[in-house]
Amino acid sequence: MSPINDSQNAMQAQAANFPLGLYIHVPFCAHRCGYCAFYQEVPKRQDIELYLQGIAYSLKSLELTRPIDTIYWGGGTPGILTTRNIYSTGKWIQDLPLYISPSEWTVELSPITVKDERLNALRDIGVNRISMGVQSFSEKTLQRLGRRQNPKCALFAYDTIRQHDFQNVGLDLIFAVPDQTLEEWEEDIQKAIQLQPEHISTYNLTMEGDSKMNLSGKFDPTPCSLERERAFYISTVKILESSGYGQYEISNFCLPGHESRHNLHTWQMAEWVGIGPSASSQYDRRRYTQFPSLGQWAQALKDGKPSFILEQTLNDHILFEDSCLFGLRMREGIDLRVLHGHYPFVQEDYIALLENFFKRLVDAGYMEPRAPHRYHLTLEGMLHCDAIGADILALT
Ligand code: SF4
Repeated sequence: MSPINDSQNAMQAQAANFPLGLYIHVPFCAHRCGYCAFYQEVPKRQDIELYLQGIAYSLKSLELTRPIDTIYWGGGTPGILTTRNIYSTGKWIQDLPLYISPSEWTVELSPITVKDERLNALRDIGVNRISMGVQSFSEKTLQRLGRRQNPKCALFAYDTIRQHDFQNVGLDLIFAVPDQTLEEWEEDIQKAIQLQPEHISTYNLTMEGDSKMNLSGKFDPTPCSLERERAFYISTVKILESSGYGQYEISNFCLPGHESRHNLHTWQMAEWVGIGPSASSQYDRRRYTQFPSLGQWAQALKDGKPSFILEQTLNDHILFEDSCLFGLRMREGIDLRVLHGHYPFVQEDYIALLENFFKRLVDAGYMEPRAPHRYHLTLEGMLHCDAIGADILALT
């Protein structure tokens, strides 16, 4: 047997042991946030029907060889779906041939879409985790971000979610918004902590692509100097960790045992299948993205043609390298020997090169060794994570 076949067989056997995720993308938003550069559409008449037909067809066509372990329903705004839409989608998922209740089923909701009947429907179909995009509790910051909700709306939505007995709730916050002071940001974190969600994600605002804020030309596209970013970031880690929220990834913190399983699997290079316009997948040794256009995606499905763009065919080297890039974003870091066990066709020379580079990062204070061949980034290293990732990619 050729080395290529050996590698493919080993990867197939390996993949079969990985948890499998399902990602469903809802590409609709009733309003475009100022900082948004994602593909999304304001739904017109018939759009949601067209979308749901595509989702039903995509789910029916899935040929999975093992059960789904986690589901993530993101957007866009999944909360734009009616209860009828939710029940239909839930039924299509439950009808998958190998369906068993997933260990984690998350839905992203924006505060203004949190309604009793929607939460009831989500509970009924098996959703057990809500991730709410609060972004800020400050009126000024919400306006700057072009968000539609007011601070009271997020608090009310959070209470409503809890009343419906969801015991795993995550809140997303954004920092380094133009004109936001460090004190205002710290207040946002404190308000989130007071609510005691199980999970808090904190994202640094980036102004890129065709977001309204970027196109307006009114804001500095790099609003965050490294010094300002450092101050926001260090303060975030300090406040959250001293309040019981352990950092397990650069932007993610949680109470013990409440890491996002779906996201963890993604960062650990497991497999997931994404459906819906612009959803990406990593499955069966390929990375591919569904067409980022509702019309094009739905037409391709209707014509029985591929509805996705193939991005990359994967091999051991790519997966090993990406495991390092994403693994270093996690507090736990990576163990080069364990990764080599997962991807045995990676050249020893490359691993030696990487380890030498890591030793230089240790000398520079960006990394700490935990055990032989095991490394994780220091706080300073996390601040330079993107540059470190670029250097890793440049090694080959
Ligand atoms: S940031 Fe999210 S909620 Fe806002 S417009 Fe973009 S996709 Fe929709």
